Amino acid sequence: MPESKQIRATVPVPSDPRKLASRALGKMADKLAKLGLRSNMDLALHLPLRYEDETQVLSIHEAGLRFGQPSQVEGVVSGCEVQYKPRRQLLVTLADDSGQLVMRFLNFYGSQLKQLAEGTRLRARGELRHGFFGPEMVHPTYQIVNLGAPLATALTPIYPAGVGLSQSFLRRAIAAALNQLDWRDTLPPAVLAELGLSAFEPAIRLLHNPPPNVDQHGLMERTHPAWERMKFDELLAQQLSLKRAQTARRAVGAPALERIGQLSNAFLMTLPFVLTRAQEKVLAEIRNDLCAIFPMQRLLQGDVGSGKTVVAALAAAQAIDNGYQAALMAPTEILAEQHFRKIAGWMEPLGIQVAWLTGGLKKKEKLEALARIESGAAQLVIGTHALIQEAVQFARLGLVIVDEQHRFGVGQRLSLRNKGTAKDSNAQTPDLTPHQLMMSATPIPRTLAMTYYADLEISVIDELPPGRSPIVTRAIDQSRREEVIARVHAAALEGRQIYWVCPLIEESEALQLQTATETYATLVAALPSLQVGLVHGRMKAVEKQAVMDAFNQNRVQVLVATTVIEVGVDVPNASLMVIEHAERFGLSQLHQLRGRVGRGTAASVCLLLYQSPLGWVAKQRLMTMRSTTDGFEIARKDLEIRGPGEFLGARQSGQAMLRFADLETDQWLVEKARNLAHFLLQDKSENSARIVKAHLARWLGEREDFLRV
Ligand code: ADP
Ligand code: MG
Repeated sequence: MPESKQIRATVPVPSDPRKLASRALGKMADKLAKLGLRSNMDLALHLPLRYEDETQVLSIHEAGLRFGQPSQVEGVVSGCEVQYKPRRQLLVTLADDSGQLVMRFLNFYGSQLKQLAEGTRLRARGELRHGFFGPEMVHPTYQIVNLGAPLATALTPIYPAGVGLSQSFLRRAIAAALNQLDWRDTLPPAVLAELGLSAFEPAIRLLHNPPPNVDQHGLMERTHPAWERMKFDELLAQQLSLKRAQTARRAVGAPALERIGQLSNAFLMTLPFVLTRAQEKVLAEIRNDLCAIFPMQRLLQGDVGSGKTVVAALAAAQAIDNGYQAALMAPTEILAEQHFRKIAGWMEPLGIQVAWLTGGLKKKEKLEALARIESGAAQLVIGTHALIQEAVQFARLGLVIVDEQHRFGVGQRLSLRNKGTAKDSNAQTPDLTPHQLMMSATPIPRTLAMTYYADLEISVIDELPPGRSPIVTRAIDQSRREEVIARVHAAALEGRQIYWVCPLIEESEALQLQTATETYATLVAALPSLQVGLVHGRMKAVEKQAVMDAFNQNRVQVLVATTVIEVGVDVPNASLMVIEHAERFGLSQLHQLRGRVGRGTAASVCLLLYQSPLGWVAKQRLMTMRSTTDGFEIARKDLEIRGPGEFLGARQSGQAMLRFADLETDQWLVEKARNLAHFLLQDKSENSARIVKAHLARWLGEREDFLRV
């Protein structure tokens, strides 16, 4: 973002360049690793996001005529000042023979003031707009140059970068990597010729260092043969690993849960609502999978409030109908408890034994629960991470359900499934692996999901239950807190309930706690006629539960909460949410939080309090939140703002497999890749096996393991 571009322009070049390289790499290795860049090949495959044309300089006058297009100008600084109104910013005036413009920086370093002294010659790149005070560039990238400094002769690659990684650093790291690579092509020349593909090494070199005479359009649009080779390669890797994962999964046995019996039927009859069309559809998909003799691996995606829980419960009912146990794991106590209450409320009247297991249980209760799970008396087990601890043994686990699956690490998800080895009472048959249903309200765009999660079937609930009213979202400057408190008061007087979410402080849990306590005290004092409650992650489970109960029963009107309420909390009468320091939250987190309101029929409101000045990313996020409540749209925006690597996050321990190809526009390449993958895996020759191995190693490295999950 703008900051990183500035760093690139302002870090002084040290006298000994080798020193910078070694010192920088040491510190930078972590940052590179965050982008998934660990080896030379990773760096070589870190291809430009786009290219910038620095081959020409326009006059300021000409640049002013190119609306909405970035241009490069060169001039001399004729003024440099910090202005404080309406907010602190740095204004630099740049002039050439044709006119002048103002460079406006909302974030800047003190050192820039000195660096941009009057008389300094600069090249600046950005979009020239006509602002209130005349032509201006907001957050241009710039470079100090001497008169007559040569221009670039070719397009300049711009790489995807994380925070604190400058373009110039990436360029140097990549250039170094390109000199140390094992360039062997994974595909033999005959195959390349037949498919009309470029060789690997020249393709990569061209993409990093486009020659002056390159087909610029093809490079920018990613239709150049060099791009096609990259796309083909990653599609081939994807197809190979998909097929291998599928074969591996189908080779494992699972209990065929074919009976839709008494429990399933009774459950549907007694539900207080009818399933939506979308719920019916995904239920049919799940039911079908559960009948198979190999384990289901399905991700159920549905926006917050779309009704995933009942679908999960119906899947569990099917397992129970067939004499197996089901387990449901949720990421937080609050959420697990809610599931327990809701599902037990549905199932216990039908004679089903539901067990409850979390870390917060007393020793005696825990032993009792463990015994019921081990004997098989507990037909459904609901809980937190406690479910995957050593001591937990299931008698006949047939189905594992993981809610908010993205909150769990890969290993955690695996270990629940592995627990599950369902001992068939008939000792003749081998152990069976339980079916797996994962749920997520953080929608991952479908193409990304299909490729990232590889061998995973996906069901999507794409409609909300009827009768929900839309949520109106506003972004409000922190300075208007008083008004917001008055609004909370008014809403409470109308019988509505309110969530007040405390700021996220990632660096310090203690500080976050302190802020929560302070906010609570302020609101208690400001709203003497109301009952205000506080819930945060450090409270004991029973304390949390007491507060949640009081809120559920409307004995508490205003609930001050940390992000512990982020997922799953379901109190339909709550229709106003205030999120403090909304600029600190990620998009999906804001969406999850907001999903706590809008669950009843009352019109709901979400107020995003922010502290100005807002950075570019934060501003985009808040604007997105204001403009839509559609989780898929929000996920799409998130992807756009952050790029796929960061979108999936380190949490997901892996990167999207497709960085270059687009499943829709590159369909023809997908076909070719699929055919070749099919051939290579069918063909039992040593040569084919070698190609498969080398290709997967190059394109997936360690990532392939995650495809099995
Ligand atoms: P999520 O998908 O976010 O987990 P939940 O399963 O918590 O959503 O469902 C949200 C609310 O909608 C719950 O109160 C649930 O009982 C209710 N609900 C689910 N399905 C329906 C339906 N078909 N009709 C009406 N209400 C429903
Ligand atoms: Mg849920």
